[in-house]
Amino acid sequence: MEPISFFSLENQHRSIHQELIEVFNRALRKNRFILGDELEAFEREFAQYCGTGYAVGVSSGTEALHLALRACGVGKGDQVITVPNSYIATALSISYVGATPVFVDIHKDSYNIDCDALEEIIKKGKIRPKAIIPVHLYGNMADMSRIVEIGKKYAVKIIEDACQAHGAGYKGKKAGSFGHAGCFSFYPTKNLGCLGDGGIVTTDDVYIYRELQLLRNYGQEKKYYHEIKGFNSRLDEIQAAILRVKLKWLDHWNRLRREKAKRYNALIGEIEQIERPSENPYGEHIYHAYVIRVKNRDRLKEYLKERRISTMIHYPVPIHMQKAYKDLGYSKGSFKVTEKCASEILSLPLYPEIPFHHIERVCESIHSFIQKTI
Ligand SMILES: *Cc1c(COP(=O)(O)O)cnc(C)c1O
Repeated sequence: MEPISFFSLENQHRSIHQELIEVFNRALRKNRFILGDELEAFEREFAQYCGTGYAVGVSSGTEALHLALRACGVGKGDQVITVPNSYIATALSISYVGATPVFVDIHKDSYNIDCDALEEIIKKGKIRPKAIIPVHLYGNMADMSRIVEIGKKYAVKIIEDACQAHGAGYKGKKAGSFGHAGCFSFYPTKNLGCLGDGGIVTTDDVYIYRELQLLRNYGQEKKYYHEIKGFNSRLDEIQAAILRVKLKWLDHWNRLRREKAKRYNALIGEIEQIERPSENPYGEHIYHAYVIRVKNRDRLKEYLKERRISTMIHYPVPIHMQKAYKDLGYSKGSFKVTEKCASEILSLPLYPEIPFHHIERVCESIHSFIQKTI
């Protein structure tokens, strides 16, 4: 039996191979590798794509979050609200600035922050957050109208973790255009990825934009004159040139992901034992991952593995249960929805070019597993 991989860039890169080689050569000929016109052009194009005034390329999604927090004035002793079911980088960025992550549980259908719980914790007054980082998990946007409203009401900065949501939509606007800043990762497996590490921050705020430009470049406005203690966190020219090619394909690739997700939905069908992902009621879910929920998850994962189908779990250990964060004092039972999801979620193989017959084989295997276990 042919193995079914979870993810592959092979066909995608084959389809744009010539273009990639051309822009690589172009960037090479320019003989400028840091902070040149490829990056400037990509920043302009990405900002325009997201519908924001500005974008600042940085060295990773983690750095995007870290520098966005700094540019928003978050620092030592501050509290920042986010969710415990995200990639660890969301919480790490908060720790980097000396602030404390405060977790709010997720909603069981969207897997995103539970806005009632969010408002409740701020209203009670025990938490006075400086910022909220909603995560658009799996490519599905959080309820941004509600979150922006809460942010305004309590004067809290909103920083979107859009690292899984390039091009995701909500009420006619795109991820990264709702908060004070939007943070994206270009890690190769993201919906828009470069050929290494990379990231970007979008914003409409000219002050945040200027701060980000300083922060990513040693705090210098003019070479060797340093306004603040900045970092070396820039996006390379070559990566920017490659991203300019790939950005043109992003909507097409997202459409393919949605099509494949739809096929999964149809072939899995309505079965009691399996919860399929829910569509976003306000816009386009762009399926960075196709995640189902099933009670005997580990057995299903094993069953699929025996049939040479690779799956993943995003994420097996919630952030509040990670050893790295035991100092926060949370324990098992702190976030019931997140913990239940962590034991039941399973990400099935999905990428724009995945062949339909792979999806069919995955779904057949799921059905035969369900048949066997009832
Ligand atoms: C990938 C990811 C990050 C981190 O991005 P890197 O580019 O790997 O640093 C942060 N948050 C979420 C939700 C992610 O998926």
